[in-house]
Amino acid sequence: MTTDASALKTAAGPVLRVSGLSKTYRREGTGWRRTDLIVAASEIELEIFAGQTLALAGSSGSGKSTVARCVTRIERPDSGQICLEGTDIAQLDSGALRPFRPQLQMVFQDPVTSLNPRFTAAEVIEEPLLIQKQGDKSTRRSRVKELMQEVGLSPQWADRSAMDFSGGQRQRLAIARALALQPKLLVLDEALSGLDLSTEAQIANLLLDLQAFHSLAYLFISHDLALVARLADTMAVMANGRIVERGPTLQVVANASHPETRTLVTSARAAQANLAALGVAP
Ligand code: ADP
Ligand code: MG
Repeated sequence: MTTDASALKTAAGPVLRVSGLSKTYRREGTGWRRTDLIVAASEIELEIFAGQTLALAGSSGSGKSTVARCVTRIERPDSGQICLEGTDIAQLDSGALRPFRPQLQMVFQDPVTSLNPRFTAAEVIEEPLLIQKQGDKSTRRSRVKELMQEVGLSPQWADRSAMDFSGGQRQRLAIARALALQPKLLVLDEALSGLDLSTEAQIANLLLDLQAFHSLAYLFISHDLALVARLADTMAVMANGRIVERGPTLQVVANASHPETRTLVTSARAAQANLAALGVAP
């Protein structure tokens, strides 16, 4: 009965609901001002359901990564709520956060720097299991191989150095690591930026397959609208720390009522035109 009731609650509510989230940074000021205040995120509202993707788009410096770091509680927001299946984790200290950490995982843009270069592929994936003290050596080893298979990496490569993997393979490793603790939400911060186009398409497909299989919720951060349109049901556009436009992805792209959205649409069109000029189908 208890299981049925909690399953019902999970099905009814969003995995993540963010409301009124704000984060300000202080920076050394110039001249008579000792410090400058940078409002990196202001009054952010987001909602993501299981099995769905919300994209956060916007140009560089608009505050996307700040939202990502607050949502995953790498940083503590100044104010606002971050409700993970109904529990507000916005101001929890590290001890109280511990049981929630597995549910929120992040994949960064550059796995080369976010991975420890001395690690083997197996060690990269196993580390979160060790930190959370899950399983013994042999169950962890078989879980690692299962995860490698799931992201399209041969388990035979488990003991190779992570540095010997290609860019796309490293991103698969980073995804396997993020999945190790069976998260509810993946925050993908420019995770496909910097990959070549065919690798980007393959990893996008992998993300779609993993989402369908595990009912994962994604917060997908990108400045590339073509990619956003492929992956996200709904999107929000950020400019100067605020969400300036939001809605179903195709509708936002078609309306593009805010100048920031129009800039993103223009650069996506330019990228497609460049590809067409090269004779490559976008
Ligand atoms: P985006 O990911 O959209 O490029 P960020 O969230 O990284 O944007 O940055 C938003 C704003 O906050 C920028 O003006 C950036 O310079 C500033 N910022 C981000 N992190 C810090 C920090 N740790 N200290 C000071 N300013 C920061
Ligand atoms: Mg960023």
